[in-house]
Order: sequence, then C-alpha cells, then structure tokens
Amino acid sequence: MYVASVTDSEHRLTLESMVDLHNALVDDAATDPRALLAEAGFSRAPEASAKSMRRVAQRMLDLADFLTDLPDLEAEVAATRITEELTELPITPSIVDHGGAGPHIHWTPATARFDDQVLADIFMALAQEVCDNGTIRFGECAADDCGHLFYDATRNRSKRFCSDPRCASRTHTAHHRKRKRSD
Ligand SMILES: [Zn+2]
Ligand SMILES: [Zn+2]
Repeated sequence: MYVASVTDSEHRLTLESMVDLHNALVDDAATDPRALLAEAGFSRAPEASAKSMRRVAQRMLDLADFLTDLPDLEAEVAATRITEELTELPITPSIVDHGGAGPHIHWTPATARFDDQVLADIFMALAQEVCDNGTIRFGECAADDCGHLFYDATRNRSKRFCSDPRCASRTHTAHHRKRKRSD
C-alpha cells in the first residue's frame, strides 16, 4: 500500500483490502490479486510480474486458516502469530514522499520483493489493530453458507455481513419469507 502509515483510516483500508483479498482467494484460489492490490493503493501492483502476484496469492492462501479463525481467536493468540510473521519479514521503516501521496511510512525497503511489501503492510496493520481493538472487529458473514470474513469499521460494531451486497439482501429476504409463512 503506498499510504502505509498507522493512522486510523489507512490501517483500516489495509485491513479491508486484506479481507477482500482473503475472501476472493478462499472462493477461488486462482484469483489474481493484481486489480485488488492496485485499487488498494499498492503503486507497484500494475507493473509487478505475474510471478510476484502468484507469490502474494500463495502467501495469502497460507494464511487463510489463520484469517478465517481470526474472529474467534483470543487477542493474545493472534498477537503471537502476528509477531511470528513480522519476524520473518524484511521490515525497515522509512518515510517517503512520492506520487503526490504526501509523506508516509514504507515498512519495507525499496529493494524488497513485492509480496514482502504487501505482507509487511498487512501484518503491520494487523499488529496495530490487535493492539488497539484485539480481534473483536473481525467477524464471519451472517449469511447462510457464505463464510466470508469481514472487518467492522463501524463505531457501534453493527456490521454482520461481508461486502457482497447479496448476503445482506438474501438474508433479509429469507427472514421476511419465514415471517410470512408463520403468519
Ligand atoms: Zn509509498
Ligand atoms: Zn457474505
């Protein structure tokens, strides 16, 4: 992410992108993360090689079980795992100013592999989140047979569904039908 500072809205954006990427890969392991990462502000995404995209996808798939379990994990357990992952990453923070984005932190050096950059951003955002809120803002979509992860950025933690608009609407319809039937 090219805006990878630890301010609230930016780490939230990283977490929401992480959740979208995780959901897309769990649905289809062959998903190419390029468009999603470009949209999330990773300025290297459009030019990154197909090989490095496959590396990002593979590393996200390796984390799929951890991310799926995240809503149910104790904050301490999540923190331990996040710390382990951070230890493996080539993290060397620096303040950079490029592409009109204004000064912001890069966690990895310019020479880092793209997949390391993506993973470092994700784990730094997760680290910040777990310190601030634990795991309570992560949840599993309430729609039947969905199983997607969501990140709830609402003030009153009212989110119940993933970002697929069909999940909220079909659940609403199902409840409505059930209510009608019992009338
Ligand atoms: Zn940048
Ligand atoms: Zn859903």
